[in-house]
Amino acid sequence: MDYDGYGSDALELAVDLANADQAGDGWASTFCAAHHEWFTDGTELALTRTESRAAGTTGDLVRQVALAESQAEVVERLNALLALATPKPYATDHDGSLHLHYAAPEAGALEQLTTTVAMGLSQVVVQHGWQRLGVCAAEGCGNVYLDTSRNGSRRYCSNTCSSRSTVAAYRARQKG
Ligand SMILES: [Zn+2]
Ligand SMILES: [Zn+2]
Repeated sequence: MDYDGYGSDALELAVDLANADQAGDGWASTFCAAHHEWFTDGTELALTRTESRAAGTTGDLVRQVALAESQAEVVERLNALLALATPKPYATDHDGSLHLHYAAPEAGALEQLTTTVAMGLSQVVVQHGWQRLGVCAAEGCGNVYLDTSRNGSRRYCSNTCSSRSTVAAYRARQKG
């Protein structure tokens, strides 16, 4: 998996976790199952209730980084997230290209998830700047997104939210 560049896979995992619906006891197990390619083969992906709560805390911290309005806030929140990680990096070419994994392959699902998310997010923020991470401006959305546009001008998580907001603004102008 690739930790470089805006399209960083690990950052996508972090963003997905921040946007996950934490309703119900099984949400974190469902999340891990849906992202099983991030875990070492054979990892038990069903999380306990306590582990699910911890996964939720990790997702909330990713969101807090996206919501940060100053570099001081980013540093504080990133470090809170990194404090939860237990990195044990190793090199691998399991997919044909040489790259790093950050979590010990024998670690439990929660540890693999937390460490991969914390390290992936930190790498991208440190390399590309925290302004690239945002929260969708569309009414009622609130999704965290990564801005991969050239000039960093994105405000919405998706084209759907962007056009929905354009239509809403147009209607508001017509009314006014
Ligand atoms: Zn990999
Ligand atoms: Zn949105």
